[in-house]
Amino acid sequence: MVAISNSADSSSGSGIDADGWLAGAEQRPSPNQDARPPETTIDLLVIHNISLPPGEFGGDWIDALFFNRLDPNAHPYFAPIASVRVSAHLLIRRDGRLIQYVACERRAWHAGVSSFQGRERCNDYSIGIELEGTDETPFTEAQYARLVACTHQIQRHYPAITDARIVGHADIAPGRKTDPGPAFDWLRYRRAVGASPSGTEHR
Ligand SMILES: [Zn+2]
Repeated sequence: MVAISNSADSSSGSGIDADGWLAGAEQRPSPNQDARPPETTIDLLVIHNISLPPGEFGGDWIDALFFNRLDPNAHPYFAPIASVRVSAHLLIRRDGRLIQYVACERRAWHAGVSSFQGRERCNDYSIGIELEGTDETPFTEAQYARLVACTHQIQRHYPAITDARIVGHADIAPGRKTDPGPAFDWLRYRRAVGASPSGTEHR
């Protein structure tokens, strides 16, 4: 088999294996994924938030959504979304726990109709990270710590994801999406990412 690798050096110690599984993540492969277009360079990171039902944390509903098992009758919010086929590469729980649903080399279905700098279908070339939360609820210390750590991991493995190519879902789907929302502290996150001693180029 010929594997197309986006990695500058897969043995560089990024903590991400050749298929794009992050060390330290709990692996739960979702069926909602497929192959990226051939020879795609992975060069965008998209930050989201999700909670099901919105504002309730810690349940199994996000898993249920990503595994197409969401009970439309369990909550009024679920009915219109139960049949939607979605996933993300990674989810960071309120306690900082990291769950990976899709290997980074594969295409997760997180962005929907989207465009970055005029280039559409961001799912093709991006990695999606969901933070368990809402637009208005402050994210936890543990989530920022984990997000920064996995951003560094991802940037080491996928150097085309420069700091300027880290965006929110709202940035690539304006008018349709608002996440990660005003409660997400971009300044704090970008400062922490930019302070990386990882060797990633930041200028
Ligand atoms: Zn989103």
